[in-house]
Amino acid sequence: MKTKLLSAAAMVAVVACGASAHERAVEFPNTKDGRIILAADLHTHSVFSDGEVWPSIRVQEAHKDGLEVLAVTEHLEHQPHKADIPHPDRNRSYQIAEETRERSDYDELIVINGAEVTRGPPHGHINAIFLDDANALLQDDPKDALIAAKAQGAFVFLNHPNWLPHTPDGIARLTDYHKELIAGGLLQGVEVVNGTLDGHSEHALQIALDNNLTVLGTSDIHGLVDWTHEAGHGGHRPMTLVLAKAHTQDAFKDALFNKHTVAWSYDDLLGREDDVRAVVEACLSLEPSAFDGKYTVLPVSLVNACPLSFTLLNTSEATFQNTGDSVHAERNSETPLTVRLNGDEDKVILTFTVLNAQIGFRKPLSVTFEANIPG
Ligand SMILES: [Zn+2]
Ligand SMILES: [Zn+2]
Repeated sequence: MKTKLLSAAAMVAVVACGASAHERAVEFPNTKDGRIILAADLHTHSVFSDGEVWPSIRVQEAHKDGLEVLAVTEHLEHQPHKADIPHPDRNRSYQIAEETRERSDYDELIVINGAEVTRGPPHGHINAIFLDDANALLQDDPKDALIAAKAQGAFVFLNHPNWLPHTPDGIARLTDYHKELIAGGLLQGVEVVNGTLDGHSEHALQIALDNNLTVLGTSDIHGLVDWTHEAGHGGHRPMTLVLAKAHTQDAFKDALFNKHTVAWSYDDLLGREDDVRAVVEACLSLEPSAFDGKYTVLPVSLVNACPLSFTLLNTSEATFQNTGDSVHAERNSETPLTVRLNGDEDKVILTFTVLNAQIGFRKPLSVTFEANIPG
């Protein structure tokens, strides 16, 4: 169906100065309860492990993408560029990234130090972030690496649990080894989306829900974000939306440990019901016009204030005069709906199944919007 751009004047201004009609920098409104939606990529590589760019490029990309948080997480054990770039200090990648951030005055961006502990199954690949010293994680036994991370107050998460070389059927499973890590306070989160491996796992989402783990989406970027994810040309890297009380590292860390996150990949949102609902309700709202006195159908704008599109199924009693029950709300747009009512209501109430918002294994979110009809 037809959509109307949210702010025609703003879009003209953007096009006039040469930028794409789709803003590259992602921007989300606050949640209804006043929390800030921080965009974070907590899994990235540079030439200091098996990535293809210098760490300064990661910081510049993050700034262009409108991220609030970027973690530098080089493989500790996988070092293909070691002969060209020897670096006995495993904090160097982070230090260069942080120096770039400071030099560039990217005050909105928080850069955090991390590492990817990279082993075969059952350990697999596990990221630790908020490290003071990544060198302390260079241990023979990967469990000792996680114990060293815990001693630094790190947040630790399991990467790409549906990676085909480790799980040939693509079904993420939690091994006894990982259950032990969770019980020992050594593992707090799991990736449900990984941008490099095209990993999208509703099984991992259910694992997070069943085991009290934080839900994460990451890019795991090795090359350029532009080329991998069409950033600036309508695409964006997968990331984690973190619902924090403030735009500070402490508030971010607090929200992460308290599991207030939503993974975002393409137009998919995955997470706990309350958090996904908070994001969807921050994005979408109804703006009704008045009844015209002649007809009992009501023109309503479905406003989408977010940089992702929504695919909705109308499950309300009311039906629409101008479209069927399937409604596509383009990002940053207003979608006109003409709702068949009685003509005497003072409120319009519509319920949708949000097909691109998952709150469990193959379980979409249902959300009800309500707005007063002007007299
Ligand atoms: Zn990995
Ligand atoms: Zn990685």
